[in-house]
Amino acid sequence: MPPNLYTRWRVVSPGWLALRESAVADSPPERLLQLIWLHQRVRREALTTLDGRPLTVLHPGFWNREAGPDFRQAVIQFDREAPVSGDVEVDVRPECWRQHRHHENPAFAEVRLHVVWSGQAPGPLPTLALGDQLDAPLPDVESWLATEAAAASLGIAQAGRCATPLRELLPAAREELLRQAAWVRFERKAGAIAVRARAVGWDRALWEGLFSALGYKRNTWPMRRLAELSPKLLATAGGMAEQVLVLQALLLGVAGFLPIEPPRTAGAGAYWRRLWDVWWREQAALDGWVLPRSLWRLHGIRPANHPQRRIALAAHWLAEGQVPRRLEAWVQRPVLERDLVSSLLGCLQVGHDGFWSHHWTLNSRATPGPHPLLGEARCSDLAVNVILPWLWSRATVGGDPSLSAQIEQRYFAWPAGEDNAVLKLACRRLLGPAPVRLPPQAAAQQGLLQIVRDFCDHANAICEGCRFPELVRTLVVPASDKTEPSTLPESSTR
Ligand code: SF4
Repeated sequence: MPPNLYTRWRVVSPGWLALRESAVADSPPERLLQLIWLHQRVRREALTTLDGRPLTVLHPGFWNREAGPDFRQAVIQFDREAPVSGDVEVDVRPECWRQHRHHENPAFAEVRLHVVWSGQAPGPLPTLALGDQLDAPLPDVESWLATEAAAASLGIAQAGRCATPLRELLPAAREELLRQAAWVRFERKAGAIAVRARAVGWDRALWEGLFSALGYKRNTWPMRRLAELSPKLLATAGGMAEQVLVLQALLLGVAGFLPIEPPRTAGAGAYWRRLWDVWWREQAALDGWVLPRSLWRLHGIRPANHPQRRIALAAHWLAEGQVPRRLEAWVQRPVLERDLVSSLLGCLQVGHDGFWSHHWTLNSRATPGPHPLLGEARCSDLAVNVILPWLWSRATVGGDPSLSAQIEQRYFAWPAGEDNAVLKLACRRLLGPAPVRLPPQAAAQQGLLQIVRDFCDHANAICEGCRFPELVRTLVVPASDKTEPSTLPESSTR
């Protein structure tokens, strides 16, 4: 298969074309502005509204594809006022608010922020102009976002039109295609980390990635906000910053998780009191940064994945402070493929925690036996989505091609992670209901997810307009030739 074939295919994706075409317009179209807002490709630590007020985005909201404001249920904070929850409307300029008659439309009554590309004076609402607050030049942002148009989940459980040609591919060709798609995904993640590192430094970019990943899909934003606040919390802890309990108290307090009354469950009261002893002293100084409880999405979360427990783990990492250095040492030393997960887990695992090794949440009963704060599945997720992209970015930016190649090798050797609902849907759509043998590496899963993002997210449930099936068919070997091993040239992903 030709090198970078998948990269060439991506540019015919409707999402990519839509954004490329928009680049010639005077102002970016609203769709691009929506994507910038959705993915927060702005200088988050220094946002200012047109009337000069500092703005913190605690959650950008959920993209609304129906009538009404563009984003629902965003949570934002002006200066150090209490955070507010509401909708966000995206337009090109402030005057669009009246031109589009939003002011007369009851569906827009909950809009708390007007996001525009440019403008001098705000309209009737607090207004944020994105034009001079992006985190990278517009062409770079546009290029990165071109395949990021996260459409609403298709929510169907039937094979797509590409399932047949993908199943007809020789296994080696199918695996190579997934491998190339996985590499696109890896480079995208690494690129985003590098951009963030330019703004806040490599260590903070890593912390933000780790915290976000610990939030899973539903609590990414509040966890990321805690990472952004962690330098302030470490400074507040001062000489006590090595004490895990102090950082647990500050993180859980700022997260809005510390209860007013001690939990009634056995054993939790003493731990709560120790947390509260720390928190009551510091809470006045940190009051303006406390996250609203409503920011957390806790319904349906498995106890082992509860954010409180993940925050407790993050406090261990912050108190110890050596995670970035240990990861750098880990990637330099030789590790057998079969030991990849266990060796990384050895870098990230924390010791016994008097409370959290036996509790899933602040309110849960003690478990009979201890449970580690980090398991193999989450460790693999961190590796594929954050740690390896971060290490690779550092090596590549630092001009160390042999280390970059070594990290790339680890990425492609990483064992497949746990199945989840998103992957199951991707498999059903792309490969159909009958089982297809996939390589036992995480990269195959990542490749599937990237194809979904590049193609499925831009098509409807019946695959209208998707060109992926016809592209795959160009690789299908006629049945009469199938005695040949594969007519497709082998290549690396580069
Ligand atoms: S939208 Fe395209 S890539 Fe997705 S299942 Fe349908 S044909 Fe396949």
